[in-house]
Formats: sequence, structure tokens, C-alpha cells
Amino acid sequence: MKVHFKTYTILDGSKRTLVSHVGDGSIIKRFDKTPVPKQPQDVVCPHFLELKWAYGCPFHCAWCYLQGTLRMLPGKTKPRFKEYSRILEHINAARARALYFQRLPFGDLEHW
Ligand code: SF4
Repeated sequence: MKVHFKTYTILDGSKRTLVSHVGDGSIIKRFDKTPVPKQPQDVVCPHFLELKWAYGCPFHCAWCYLQGTLRMLPGKTKPRFKEYSRILEHINAARARALYFQRLPFGDLEHW
């Protein structure tokens, strides 16, 4: 399974080549939707890798936008796991390839 890399601008303005996604990105994918802040008052949301092994939530917080996001699924917000063999396949690919290339100083661990 292929591990994909991409060059990102990180919060201190430097560039780093980091994992963008593993395989089709259905299990491991970097959240990179938010822009790098330009002004001190801009929102700071660092890009991080998501491990998307399950979805749903057993709670029903009134303010939660996920309640609406999952409303079209047959089980609505009921928690569900993805197929275990797929999860393991993606994690093992990441462990075998990506972690080796991403030994970062301790302060940068939030990017992995
Ligand atoms: S905020 Fe949403 S995702 Fe979080 S616990 Fe509440 S219902 Fe679940």
C-alpha cells in the first residue's frame, strides 16, 4: 500500500515533507483544510493525521454539528467500526514507511 507525502508549510513558516495520506486516505489522512495563520488573530489549527477507524458517537450533544452530518446514514450517529483488516493494513503501511521518514524533534510530534 502506498504512503503519500506532500510538502506543507507548518506554523513556524518552514516547509516539511510529511505524510498526506495512506492508500486511498479512507483510514489515515492528514487534516489540512485550514490555512496557515497570517495574522496573530487568525485561527490556529495545525495539520494533523487523522486515524479514521470508526465513526459515529453515542452521545447527543445539542450543539454538535456531527448530529446533522451523520443523519443520512442508516444507523444515523450510532458508532461503527470500519473493517478491522483494512484498519490494520493501513496502519501497518504507515508504520513500515511513514514513521521511518518522520522522526521529528519532540516539539514537532503534533504534526504526525
Ligand atoms: S460534541 Fe458531538 S461528537 Fe462530541 S460527544 Fe457530543 S455528540 Fe459526540
